[in-house]
Amino acid sequence: MTKLLLEKSKPGRVCSNLPVEETQDSSSFIPKDFLRTDSLELPEISEVELIRHFSELAKKNFSIDSGFYPLGSCTMKYNPKINEQVARIERLNTIHPKQPEEQVQGALEVMHVLGEYLKEITGFKAITLQPAAGAHGELTGLLMIKKYFENIGDKKRNKVLVPDTAHGTNPATAGMCGYKVVELKSNSRGQVEVESLKNNLDDSVAAIMMTNPNTLGIFEENILEISKLAHSTGALLYYDGANLNAIMGIVKPGDMGFDVCHLNLHKTFSTPHGGGGPGAGVVCCNEKLEPYLPTPILSKDSNGKYFWDYNKKDSIGKIKGYYGNFGMFVRALAYIWANGKEGLTQVSQDAVLNANYLKEKLKQFYDLPYDLECMHEFVLSGKRQKKNGVSTLNIAKRLLDYGVHAPTIYFPLVVPEAIMIEPTETETKEILDEFVEIMKKVAEEASSNPELVIGAPYNTPVRRVDEATAARNLNLCWNSGCK
Ligand SMILES: *Cc1c(COP(=O)(O)O)cnc(C)c1O
Repeated sequence: MTKLLLEKSKPGRVCSNLPVEETQDSSSFIPKDFLRTDSLELPEISEVELIRHFSELAKKNFSIDSGFYPLGSCTMKYNPKINEQVARIERLNTIHPKQPEEQVQGALEVMHVLGEYLKEITGFKAITLQPAAGAHGELTGLLMIKKYFENIGDKKRNKVLVPDTAHGTNPATAGMCGYKVVELKSNSRGQVEVESLKNNLDDSVAAIMMTNPNTLGIFEENILEISKLAHSTGALLYYDGANLNAIMGIVKPGDMGFDVCHLNLHKTFSTPHGGGGPGAGVVCCNEKLEPYLPTPILSKDSNGKYFWDYNKKDSIGKIKGYYGNFGMFVRALAYIWANGKEGLTQVSQDAVLNANYLKEKLKQFYDLPYDLECMHEFVLSGKRQKKNGVSTLNIAKRLLDYGVHAPTIYFPLVVPEAIMIEPTETETKEILDEFVEIMKKVAEEASSNPELVIGAPYNTPVRRVDEATAARNLNLCWNSGCK
């Protein structure tokens, strides 16, 4: 391929740093070991065969556009097509991150306006759009906290407290930043126990990482007391914003007493996600942590022109190439504008309503360990079905036969046989009722014909995969074609 392009190129300099004499024969500058010795075997197929191949693959892929996707904690809401139309505007999607600031003022304004809205929604003073995912935002936020303590000369803080319901990325991030992770036990109401917090809180604690509502879908009633306690010992509060879909327009993490948070634009703000696609884990923070935000900082000069400010002596430095996943910012801004302030509040209200509706309907068929009003999601337990030999994994697989994506299972860890359901606001009552019928059917099958559920799925392109072997002997080659 390289050779073909080079042969076609005009004489002169092909690209700025490669003189033409070196590019005419690629073998002269590519190390011998990297040169192909045999001919390239490209399959001979017609265009229509190729199209059919990819269409067939696309059909096998389950997505939010093909069915109900109640994958708890992931907020698999419908991604409105208007977002895609806006992101495809040529003047936005053809710009290059290396273009000088004066040529891309509009794009910088998109980032600025989005940032202003997100600050307003979260109740924070400053923002960076750089991080590429929620976990990356966590890393950014904790590095900022670490730098803050270094800067004020507080060297003894080596611990981060993390509730036992936390997403796995929370303790992993704290560990990556060199902190010792201390687990906080939840109480019978599925919340951080204030007494357990008091026992663990001293001047060796740098931060508490919390999700609110937490991963049980329960709002932490004592959050104000928790933040007061934390701050009284000098610790900071990190907000995992993956569950923001439950509270937009209702309560702000900044007002709950948090110092820094990440948001997952690919969850709450309907930019596509799954399959490792581009995410955006923007980080918002208060005045105290602002100096530590990654550079460059998007700023405005006295003439109203946007520019990138690299001159921040306390910054943790760059966290991502260029300025982040720009396409996600365009989609998120389109989503915010399409909904408006009232619309975003309605999003959260409907998400909470849908989850409570499902919870109330489903609790007769499955155990509900925390029978409280939930926020945007709730967690059932398959304990009753397990007694009959049907595990939560079996239930999840059986749901696939009914055309529903499986809920999140075996998480959070505090619920045995956990089935975590997040319907999101974009589903209609009819869809929710259909899901209730399917869940009821599977519960009936689990009691009357357990073998049927244990053998599921029957209708998917691939039956059960051996997940352990797949993880241990990863083979990404089609038809075992590569060695
Ligand atoms: C999704 C999620 C994360 C991690 O976000 P990614 O964008 O997947 O890295 C962290 N915490 C919670 C509660 C989540 O649901």
